[in-house]
Amino acid sequence: MTAQKTRTGVSFDAQGDLSDDQRVINAMHAFVKDFGLSAAVHMESCVHCGLCAKACHFHVMTKDPKYTPINKLKPFKKAYQRHVGPFSLFYRFFNLAPAVTTEELKEWQELIFDSCNMCGRCTLICPMGIDIAELVKEARHGMFAAGLIPERLALMDRTTRAWGSPAKGGTPRHVCGWSYSRTVGADGPHDPRLGQPGDTGG
Ligand code: SF4
Ligand code: SF4
Repeated sequence: MTAQKTRTGVSFDAQGDLSDDQRVINAMHAFVKDFGLSAAVHMESCVHCGLCAKACHFHVMTKDPKYTPINKLKPFKKAYQRHVGPFSLFYRFFNLAPAVTTEELKEWQELIFDSCNMCGRCTLICPMGIDIAELVKEARHGMFAAGLIPERLALMDRTTRAWGSPAKGGTPRHVCGWSYSRTVGADGPHDPRLGQPGDTGG
């Protein structure tokens, strides 16, 4: 299924026939799995100096705040705050970081796939050493698990799985370096930090 639009008119592609709730669950589960120590440190270290915004050519050219590198990590950061961070209990209890919605993920597709070429300029300039480009890459894994990646990438993934890839010596690999079964499994998410399936708010 391709070329759909969100309520605010942002184009997005969707793969598969997952329900909206299941897409969020899959994304959250993949995000949480990706939060290693370095990602956690990066999430906690931002001092909101704004230097990365001045380094990102998407933001420099458009002046649109939605293209700032740190905004591109918003749903990823919410997942961290609600489910993984040291104050996740408080974030959930007081709803300080509202649950990620499917609508947000759909709008996010344009930001982390079409508006970031992973050039790493934001990473280089960040005084706190936050590897934003790496976090964008990890966030893309969650979007893949949710079936919310640009269709051109989904097609590459299907092609690679069917026929292999010359770049990988002919070994079938997923284009995002991620497999659905590795992410979710047949019975849905199992990470206790995410609560029960259907509890998208955690
Ligand atoms: S440059 Fe680093 S510390 Fe400054 S706003 Fe960007 S991510 Fe945060
Ligand atoms: S890695 Fe992405 S967010 Fe960072 S400067 Fe490059 S395009 Fe912008």
